[in-house]
Amino acid sequence: MTSTDFDVVVVGFGPAGAVAACLLGQAGLRTLAIDRVVAVWDKPRAIAIDHEIMRLFQNLGMADKVLPHVAPFTASEHFGADGQLIRRIDMVPPPYPQGYTPSMVFTQPPVEAALRAHAASYPSVEVQLGVEFISLEQATDHVAVTLQAPQADPSIVTAAYVIGCDGASSTVRQHLGIAFEDLVFDEPWMVIDVRVNDAGLAKLPATAAQFCEPARPSTFIVGPGNHRRWEIMLLPGEDPRTMERPKQVWQLLSRWLSPGDGELWRASSYRFHALVASQWRAGRVFLAGDAAHQQPPFIGQGMCQGIRDVGNLSWKLAAVIRGTAFSALLDTYGEERDQHVRTLTARIKAIGHTICERDPVAARRRDADLLAQGGGTARTVTRQEIVPPIAAGLLADTAHPANGTLFPQPWVAGADGPRHLDDVVGTGWRMVLDGRAAGAWPNTAMPIVTIQQPGHSGLVEQDGILAAWFDKYGCVGAIVRPDHYVYGVLPDFMSAPAVLDDLKSRLGGRA
Ligand SMILES: Cc1cc2nc3c(=O)[nH]c(=O)nc-3n(C[C@H](O)[C@H](O)[C@H](O)COP(=O)(O)OP(=O)(O)OC[C@H]3O[C@@H](n4cnc5c(N)ncnc54)[C@H](O)[C@@H]3O)c2cc1C
Repeated sequence: MTSTDFDVVVVGFGPAGAVAACLLGQAGLRTLAIDRVVAVWDKPRAIAIDHEIMRLFQNLGMADKVLPHVAPFTASEHFGADGQLIRRIDMVPPPYPQGYTPSMVFTQPPVEAALRAHAASYPSVEVQLGVEFISLEQATDHVAVTLQAPQADPSIVTAAYVIGCDGASSTVRQHLGIAFEDLVFDEPWMVIDVRVNDAGLAKLPATAAQFCEPARPSTFIVGPGNHRRWEIMLLPGEDPRTMERPKQVWQLLSRWLSPGDGELWRASSYRFHALVASQWRAGRVFLAGDAAHQQPPFIGQGMCQGIRDVGNLSWKLAAVIRGTAFSALLDTYGEERDQHVRTLTARIKAIGHTICERDPVAARRRDADLLAQGGGTARTVTRQEIVPPIAAGLLADTAHPANGTLFPQPWVAGADGPRHLDDVVGTGWRMVLDGRAAGAWPNTAMPIVTIQQPGHSGLVEQDGILAAWFDKYGCVGAIVRPDHYVYGVLPDFMSAPAVLDDLKSRLGGRA
């Protein structure tokens, strides 16, 4: 390979790009992150994150910077055409599988600022703001990226790889000629954020709600502190720009609040789309975040999906750049993420279609069907069961329902009190064994983590999360990837060498 200025150029320093730069910086890769806009946008777009993303922040050593801006996501109660409860979407109950509240609301601007500052704190990461991506040229062993800073001539930097995290209208994607595939969802909605005062808070429900009313479907979300969000469908003939005017916005909110009840933070109209890039990789260039996909925000997964993208890609890039894996590993990025995004988007669309039903007869039929599914009462679905496992890519050949699931993170006992498992054992490839299982532990080069139960010595978990996991999946061990997804499981300790040999042959490199 020719010597390049950087290992990776990250185009776009929004949430996906900032997390990519953090992960690449943590891996010690020479990274350039650029954004054409200097400041973080001071208005929230994403409002929900989940435990997988918080675990990733923990792995970056920045959970303490994010947690002050986070609160639990209250259950979302769905009300039907006649105002009756038809469904609840909640989170899985304690003990929490990833070590954090499974569904959370957060305030995006300070979290995004913290992510940017954290990325810039890595010695191998350079950040250039106010710099626009113009174009790129690919060679067999590098990419030359043309950038434009204000009042300067265009400059060219070279990198082994580029990640386009430049949002929905991605110039990188357009430059590569990659089209979006339309997954067929297109609804006009207004998103309204209000900082509600005490008088207003007293009038509002304590939990989130979906009003699945055919006259005008709408969503209410309880954000952190006094932040409350409404997402309200625009009706045929309503002009989005006119509806964004404060007078119209307060009219839309009049069912809940009046202007004296709070400060309008922002009101913007959006088309809720479902789109996925037809290709996630072109040569040495990858797409991630909104540049690769968009989905309706009904369970608050858009940004989470973008962060999952870069969480998936970063450790693979690090392994390939260091020579510990074949470059073919990078093909598993698109394979895994495309399947996951399509499956989750289909589930979000299905939820969206039930919410967006405008025909009163069909809406009443929907309500009856949903209640029938719950045996006559409103069923509770968890957000965690809606998010699917990985079902393609770098997974063990022997099919098993645990493969591709997110491995839990219990609290483990420590001398100074309980600690998250990852803080004790790290985040690389690992073989996690059930300390209750009989037999000789495998002898392997892969780090082994043996989880014991209270009353035994060693790494003792609290709450029995992993014991229950091993019991559920009928195995004595799991081979866990650096992004915490399960590569494969061990039905017994003797099966370990075969599973590891298979993995080694697939990773290749100098592993
Ligand atoms: C109403 C609404 C509600 C939502 N709610 C949720 C939620 O609750 N939970 C959730 O997870 N997600 C939610 N989302 C989705 C979430 O906001 C997005 O998925 C997320 O912000 C995308 O992050 P990103 O980093 O991929 O792109 P962006 O945030 O769009 O960042 C792209 C960056 O690239 C920069 N850029 C663009 N072009 C160039 C160029 N040529 N050169 C240099 N820089 C460039 C831009 O300036 C920008 O900073 C919601 C979205 C909307 C609209």
